[in-house]
Amino acid sequence: MTPDILLTDICLPDPFGDAPLKSNCCLAIQGDSICQIGPAHEFDALEAKRVIKGRGQLALPGLINGHCHAAMTLFRGLADDLSLADWLNNYIFPAEARYVQPDMVYWCSKLAAAEMIFSGTTTVADGYFHEHHAAKAFAETGLRAVAAQGVIDFPAPGVPDPEKKINHAAEFLTQWRSHPLIRPAVFAHSPYTCSPGTLVAAKELARSEKTLFFIHTAETEQEISMIHDKQGDSPVRHLHNLGLLDAGTVCIHAVWLDEQDLDILAETGAGIVVCPQSSLKLASGKAPLQAMLARGIRVGIGTDGAASNNRLDLIREMDSCAKLNKLRNLDPVAVPANTLVNMATQGGAAVLGLHRKIGRLEEGKHADIMLVNLDTPHLQPVHGSDLPLYAIQGSDVQTVLINGILVMQDRKILSFDLEETVEQVRRLAEQVKKSL
Ligand SMILES: [Zn+2]
Repeated sequence: MTPDILLTDICLPDPFGDAPLKSNCCLAIQGDSICQIGPAHEFDALEAKRVIKGRGQLALPGLINGHCHAAMTLFRGLADDLSLADWLNNYIFPAEARYVQPDMVYWCSKLAAAEMIFSGTTTVADGYFHEHHAAKAFAETGLRAVAAQGVIDFPAPGVPDPEKKINHAAEFLTQWRSHPLIRPAVFAHSPYTCSPGTLVAAKELARSEKTLFFIHTAETEQEISMIHDKQGDSPVRHLHNLGLLDAGTVCIHAVWLDEQDLDILAETGAGIVVCPQSSLKLASGKAPLQAMLARGIRVGIGTDGAASNNRLDLIREMDSCAKLNKLRNLDPVAVPANTLVNMATQGGAAVLGLHRKIGRLEEGKHADIMLVNLDTPHLQPVHGSDLPLYAIQGSDVQTVLINGILVMQDRKILSFDLEETVEQVRRLAEQVKKSL
């Protein structure tokens, strides 16, 4: 066997997390998968088509951003310091109606992909309108994506007639059914922007295509009273009453849950993605992460869009999430670093139903890998074996491979023209600026 790529002189974490980093290791890639991983002496007889010298860098599984609206990079910083309702109704929905078109989604999703790759993300679960153009952008950048077409009850970008929203999503699913990097899915915006009929139809479509159904759920206290007034129950129970909760449903945010909601989510096997930075910035609240994990609910972590974060850096997100939970629980051991790293790797993969393929560095898994430069003052010394979560920053990620393809090496994007992307986004941003 001649591997396509051999990573030499890399450090690997101990699989049980209690021993020091193992230095002088190698990792071989054949096609899109890891074919061998271990100490260098086991690779002595191996000749690869291409050798990448790790120079003592730490190899880790690429991160999984469980929730994003990639194209919203155009609206980064456009409307800060507002409540969710004000932000959404008075700024974001009008801006989306005006500026979200295929060209914008394509270039702004490409910019988002660059930002994510630069900070070690190798898979994103995205949900937006004109999602075909986001999927195209992800495929061209080499970023793995679960790309979900947005469904909402009012006229939306690309779907001026709300009557056609389910057909539109169905066409999108058909179009991207067999791409190696893109898994198409359905994203119903929320229980307050989608009627029961829309929610049932969207979930039925996802079920018939055996794909995921994403929905913003129980994000704010206001949503709780709104759904109680309209549907007579909590958002989670409303979705459950409609028969929407199962292992193929992913509830985003899940900040305002009561004990019964948590029990229902655990019983039905629905997944959750928390977005702590977005919830912090919009002051939506803190998701009951400990209670979710204690019930064995699958939980991932996401950045949400750049308009409510304003970064797409999962390393920063993990750090904030750990500290937010420590502070709010007045308990420094509330959610330890290892738990967050798990949520951003194999735990996140499980939420997306991709745990057999990604989330760990082991033979047979897809080669989604980041190399972290440990040779910086803020990452010395290294005592433990895991990602040094409270010291690392996104810019410590040097090299990224996705599906066996080298997409970034020594912080240079190789898979697409980043300069052109930045220029195109600036051009689009000029139009927004002129209209303000
Ligand atoms: Zn969102």
